[in-house]
Amino acid sequence: MIIRARVVVTMDGPPIDNGAVAVSRNRIIDVGKFPEISARHSGQQLVDLGEQVMLPGLINAHCHLDYTCLRGQIPPKKSFADWIRAINAEKARLSAQDYVASITEGFAEAKRFGTTTIANLTAFPELSARIDPPIRTWWFAELIDVRSPERANELVDRAVESLKPAANWGLAPHAPFTASTNLYRRCEEVVRRENVLLTTHLAESREEMSMFRDSAGPLYEFMKEIGRDMSDCGDQTPLDRFLGTVRDSSTALRSARNDKKAVRNDAGWIVAHLNELAESDFELLETFKGKFHVVHSPRSHDYFAHSPFAFERLRDLGFNLCLGTDSLASNENLSLFAEMRAFRRGEPAVSPKDALEMVTVNGGRALGRPQVLGRIGANYFADLIAIPSSGITDVFEEILAFDQPVHWIMVNGKT
Ligand SMILES: [Zn+2]
Repeated sequence: MIIRARVVVTMDGPPIDNGAVAVSRNRIIDVGKFPEISARHSGQQLVDLGEQVMLPGLINAHCHLDYTCLRGQIPPKKSFADWIRAINAEKARLSAQDYVASITEGFAEAKRFGTTTIANLTAFPELSARIDPPIRTWWFAELIDVRSPERANELVDRAVESLKPAANWGLAPHAPFTASTNLYRRCEEVVRRENVLLTTHLAESREEMSMFRDSAGPLYEFMKEIGRDMSDCGDQTPLDRFLGTVRDSSTALRSARNDKKAVRNDAGWIVAHLNELAESDFELLETFKGKFHVVHSPRSHDYFAHSPFAFERLRDLGFNLCLGTDSLASNENLSLFAEMRAFRRGEPAVSPKDALEMVTVNGGRALGRPQVLGRIGANYFADLIAIPSSGITDVFEEILAFDQPVHWIMVNGKT
């Protein structure tokens, strides 16, 4: 099949006017100028999208479709701990059937906004078998053992059994304040065995920083109240705590401090947030350059009024930076176009093209599939979207300004 559009934005070289893509089954086999593609693949069925911009489907690197049904239900709270209490109260009202409906609705909405790949954290990995995602999905089991750390292994092993049938999956120890060191380590053991991914929330709120660094603040009090062992609090940042927990980490952390060349952390974690970083954290990050991926969620970030995201410093340190919507308990919709616009409101110096990279190329890298996800090129998955083109502005500006549902979407070669 040949698909032609007024402009093809490949994210791999300049946009191609009067461009076309040749697709065979679920892969792109060729891309270029329309006359060249039609000559090289004569006799193929032609789909002419007309005055449209074709681009790679968008990649949401962090979200929780469990909470799609909580859109607008939780007004911003004074403290992060209060927000956790509020979402826990909402969650207590939901049944398994409600969650299935919520996740299903979330997939449909994400797809409507042109998302073709999603990293979806779910607190209910057992429900994944009841849902057939309409887009490419990495199911991550979100794991919390703060109330029963002695059962960390069991929790991980059960999640693995639930997610094993999924095409793509991973594990998500929730955060250093809710997941024990054993839980993190058990997840890393699984990754050494299975070809899966790891993600976690890290340094999201000021309260997480004061909990770990100062043994103080509303999150510290809340966690202590529910019986968490607080002996890891008082003299480290959330980043210290994380790096002290993960694979080869004690070695890595020690080496990072003593010998900048000896760092071995190559776990490839997808780390959500990193909003709250101390100066000492940046020194530490210097030694972990490019070793993990970072997901920023601009609208959720604004909702919580976190400290400014250190975009430039993290980028200059070489981290692969992506965007995610987070959940609708702290965001208004699942549009990555809106997420890119929100991001650029905070970072106007970033070009529209660089913002688009964060939801295409960079997402593909974070998911460990840079050769098949996030670009239009030979051998890439045929995950494509098209939006109307007015032809008058810069094509990347035009893409970022798009605020409608996407009407033409191909996922894995199927429209
Ligand atoms: Zn999250």
